[in-house]
Amino acid sequence: MSELRVIKYGNPILRMKAKHIENIDSDVKQLANDMITIMQGEEGIGLAAPQVAQSISLLVVDMSLIDEEGEPTAFINPEILTSEGESVLEEGCLSLPDIREDVKRPEIITLRYQNIEGEVSEKRFDELLARVLQHEIDHLNGVLFVDRISSLKKKMFNKKLKEIATEERVEIV
Ligand SMILES: [Zn+2]
Repeated sequence: MSELRVIKYGNPILRMKAKHIENIDSDVKQLANDMITIMQGEEGIGLAAPQVAQSISLLVVDMSLIDEEGEPTAFINPEILTSEGESVLEEGCLSLPDIREDVKRPEIITLRYQNIEGEVSEKRFDELLARVLQHEIDHLNGVLFVDRISSLKKKMFNKKLKEIATEERVEIV
């Protein structure tokens, strides 16, 4: 497996807009597989390519944690077409270790995306899956869940965020 690592808050790649994938070639497929391995190793429910320093429009979700018959699945070039309702749920992120907070998001989304074979689907997602997908799609747009909490609450995490960013700088150099 390639030497991918989960990059952390403070790394500028997390703030970039991920590039549309034109061609789902063997590199993209390999990356999706590697991301699934990393996600499962870190016990995450989702992982976006920018989190392993690859700024392309790819994310993986471990559907097996949501549905017994589900399996880890890649979503390519996902685009939210509609969203409705509202729900509040606690979120965490592999790029923001030890930070968890309630985040308000739409409850139901319709998503257009390509699967690993390049086939385009439009599907409705709700509950936990809608939540995870929105969190991961945020990553593709350079957005982190701490951007979606009140500035007062974010202040409580300032010290922790600085610590994470300081450690990440050591890793980058
Ligand atoms: Zn995340």
